[in-house]
Amino acid sequence: MSVLELADVTYSYAERPAVEDVSLTVESGDFLGLVGPNGSGKTTLLKLMLGLLRPDEGSVTLFDRPAHEFDDGTRVGYVSQEATGAAGGMPVTVREVVTMGRYPHVGLGRFGKRDTDRIAEALETVGVAHLADRRFSTLSGGQKQRVVIARALAADADLLALDEPTVGVDAESRESFYELLRELNRDGLTILLVEHDIGVVTAFTTRVACLNRRLFFHGDSLDFSESDALREAYGADQRLLDHHHH
Ligand code: ADP
Repeated sequence: MSVLELADVTYSYAERPAVEDVSLTVESGDFLGLVGPNGSGKTTLLKLMLGLLRPDEGSVTLFDRPAHEFDDGTRVGYVSQEATGAAGGMPVTVREVVTMGRYPHVGLGRFGKRDTDRIAEALETVGVAHLADRRFSTLSGGQKQRVVIARALAADADLLALDEPTVGVDAESRESFYELLRELNRDGLTILLVEHDIGVVTAFTTRVACLNRRLFFHGDSLDFSESDALREAYGADQRLLDHHHH
């Protein structure tokens, strides 16, 4: 089943297109890494995929509907670059942040055992159960990321989208964070990941989309490692690329 279909998608902020003529399909169970140099349109493409931006040309279909009309908040979990700061100022606990993810399922009814069980399970899965009663604002960056993912799990999301989730997170925590994503993907969760670290992407994802305004590659992660797409997409940023490889 296709989760996402992009056909000839172009989007400009002003005159110059940030994303141009991109077509790709995300299947259920894919773990797709979006890579490319700084300013290559990765965040813009992710927002188009989630219907947060509407394409100037072409179409984006999310769960068989135009993405910009999609409003089923329970199906998609989005961890934006700002996400870990989102609840930062409020004196909410970790459990309360995760509980928010469950609200769409409850409707006008009351929280039942199923809801509290799901919240406890989500906290357990991402390894933050022991932090449940701590204030969210007191956590480290890596811990906050896990809590935001727990919130998406509590919502029973089918699709998890993350935009550079480990910026400012130490190397060891990053590794275990990506191992968590890999496990969630193996359990069936479809994941979209914007990540500047090519090593992470080729090691953990199943699929890669390599972007520099246009799409230079879309396919299996293993094939990506062996292709020239990376060099072509980075062009003048070659030095940066060599840096990543060492
Ligand atoms: P990436 O995520 O790969 O760094 P972005 O999608 O953030 O790339 O940006 C792609 C291009 O669009 C860049 O040239 C950036 O400067 C431009 N851009 C991004 N957001 C805006 C905005 N809100 N207004 C105007 N230009 C923007």
